[in-house]
Amino acid sequence: MIIDVHYHFFSRWPADENVARNIAEGFLLDGERTGVKKTMEEVLPVYRKIMDDPESNELVRRMDEGGIDVTAICVVDNVDMGLDKERVMNINKRCATAAAGHPGRLIALAGIDPRRPDAPTLFRRCIEEFGMKGLKWHPDNGYYPNSPEAYAVLEVVNELRVPLLIHCSPLPHSRAKYALPIHLDDVAVDFPDLEIIAAHMGNMWWRDWLSLAQYKKNINGDMAMWQLMAVSKPHLFRRYLREILDVIGAEQVLFGTDGPIFEPHVSNKDFVDIIENLTEKDQYGICFSQEEINAILGSNAARIFRLDQDTREPHK
Ligand SMILES: [Zn+2]
Repeated sequence: MIIDVHYHFFSRWPADENVARNIAEGFLLDGERTGVKKTMEEVLPVYRKIMDDPESNELVRRMDEGGIDVTAICVVDNVDMGLDKERVMNINKRCATAAAGHPGRLIALAGIDPRRPDAPTLFRRCIEEFGMKGLKWHPDNGYYPNSPEAYAVLEVVNELRVPLLIHCSPLPHSRAKYALPIHLDDVAVDFPDLEIIAAHMGNMWWRDWLSLAQYKKNINGDMAMWQLMAVSKPHLFRRYLREILDVIGAEQVLFGTDGPIFEPHVSNKDFVDIIENLTEKDQYGICFSQEEINAILGSNAARIFRLDQDTREPHK
């Protein structure tokens, strides 16, 4: 089973066109530096095609193409964008409804900024009323995940036994200090039963993330964003991933794509193919066992999202 734990839900093209332009601007440079060169003219039509997808039908079509069984689609809430809580709850509901339209294929993660005064209540509604299955945070928008307001929401996340997917890496337009892996250490200590998925495994902070994950079994990480390196510098990709697994094993590493962000650069199908082919030795003799690949691609996420045990009816 292949599970993508990190995909961004968009549904309102052309309203999302500015978002797409921002994303493209930020990552064209990243792509160029890592050797995956694209232009705005090349990437924008791809974003248009895959982001104008209110019911996620196009996403499921691409999942079929790439052999991806389940995708976690998430909402990102940032109070600095000026949306009131009704608008934010509406976006969360649309995401939940898209997931409910594809039972067994999509699960929805709520986006509630903990700086909202009634964030704990709003998050609870997303889970209990809308049937969402976890929380997504972007602390680099301006809050620490170990702050009092964040802890008030995490109490509910912990009570409802759903995971937290949390951005963990510098990005072109945000404040990296809030997204440092070290802040997850407090969260992991204070909520020992909470499954934390540090997005990108910290990206280039992966050693800092790894040093925490070595001792905290509830600090997991996803491979989203690593597809650029996987394509352009496959030897580094293998070396770093091998080092990670040699330290903590394969149980805390999850497949994720950050779609649709990098899809104009590397398709999710290509990323899956690269990971599946890691069982073959490269020129330096680095390879991975089939058990490791299976854990990364799906069984870890199935455990964390309790996909095998979940009997709750999807939201109608
Ligand atoms: Zn993301």
